[in-house]
Amino acid sequence: MTHLQCVNCQKHFPLFELRFECDCEGLLEVIHEAEGLRDLPQLAEKRLTSRIPADRSGVWRFREAVVPLEEKEIVTQLEGRTGFHAVESLQKWTGSPGLFIKHEGENPTGSFKDRGMTAAVSVAKRLGMPLLACASTGNTSSALSSYAARAGLKSVVFLPSGKVSLGKMAQTLGYGAHVLAVKGDFDDAMQIVRDLAKAGEVYMVNSLNPFRIEGQKTIIWDILQDMNWQAPDWIVVPGGNLGNTSAFGKAIEEAFEWGWIDKKPRLATIQAAGANPFYKSFLNGFSSLQSIQAETIATAIRIGNPVNFSRASRAIINTRGIVGQVSDKEILAAKAVIDRSGLGCEPASAATLAGLKLMVQAGLVKKEDKVVAVLTGSMLKDTDAIMKSQNLTVEEVEADAKAIKLSLDSLRSKH
Ligand SMILES: *Cc1c(COP(=O)(O)O)cnc(C)c1O
Repeated sequence: MTHLQCVNCQKHFPLFELRFECDCEGLLEVIHEAEGLRDLPQLAEKRLTSRIPADRSGVWRFREAVVPLEEKEIVTQLEGRTGFHAVESLQKWTGSPGLFIKHEGENPTGSFKDRGMTAAVSVAKRLGMPLLACASTGNTSSALSSYAARAGLKSVVFLPSGKVSLGKMAQTLGYGAHVLAVKGDFDDAMQIVRDLAKAGEVYMVNSLNPFRIEGQKTIIWDILQDMNWQAPDWIVVPGGNLGNTSAFGKAIEEAFEWGWIDKKPRLATIQAAGANPFYKSFLNGFSSLQSIQAETIATAIRIGNPVNFSRASRAIINTRGIVGQVSDKEILAAKAVIDRSGLGCEPASAATLAGLKLMVQAGLVKKEDKVVAVLTGSMLKDTDAIMKSQNLTVEEVEADAKAIKLSLDSLRSKH
């Protein structure tokens, strides 16, 4: 039977028991039985042409290995149907001709958080939880607000005051969540929500929630399906609270164990240099995690005390992965190139390509390597970061044919 298990002491709990950690305080994860899952890739392929919402979702297409819910229990917005792009300008800029981009900003609320949220909210609804909560830098709260609305449930979100982009704040408010701006940083907000969840006041949908991880695993399976189940050499992702790193590690392990792939891709998690506790821990062989006061323009990864450390370090070790760091300057340079390519992304997402460029320079990634970089959020999530950092101008012009012709002539003569 599918069940919950502690990542530290291996203690088992029923799948739908209401708890977020083990008695030993270890994190919990969902354990699936391999039986019946070996042929899931073929079934997922068939579902691509189905008209049933659960089949059309890029998460629930793999539902037997995500959360075994019945179709009518699933709260879905057809999330996870995201693009897989080969973009020449980005292959050139990073120096990686075998680069593909998985753009998770193409999800319904504009970030990969939808993949985890559809799972967590579906379970919350099944459990009959009346009030859902999260701490967030803006994307988890947008996803929660939207999915809770679709499920007819109440949501409350805890955001670090003054540190959330206007787009994410407006989106979170617009879908109807109650917003509490905490006078502190993300890590303070996270602690509040953990305490509330432990006291039974709210149902927590942060990535500590094991069902979030289950939903986000499908980013990897979706990529593998895009590649006909031929694993790439590297998968690169930004890291903040490290939910995605944990989910990616679990998805790779399971795909390998169940015979879906015969080689494991290596995982590279990239942090912002101002929010790099995982990077520092990697340098000392993950022997400890020192929390820090985080600061970076990439607000989605402005996190100094990642709660998923134990799961994420295991993911890096098991995939022979690495952790890198990039400066805000490198993040913004990468973002400008991604924006100009026509894909666009928010600053945190751009850390992946900034990191990949350094990995190529260091000889870690070879020319012949197949690499998948995950862009985590949409360009529209943080318009401030575009306007403030890229030196862009709007030309004012008279509403007059002559003036406009002059302007177009000068545009044509530029190259
Ligand atoms: C949440 C988020 C991240 C960080 O993901 P973690 O799972 O917390 O490491 C990165 N980029 C974007 C756009 C995000 O919303």
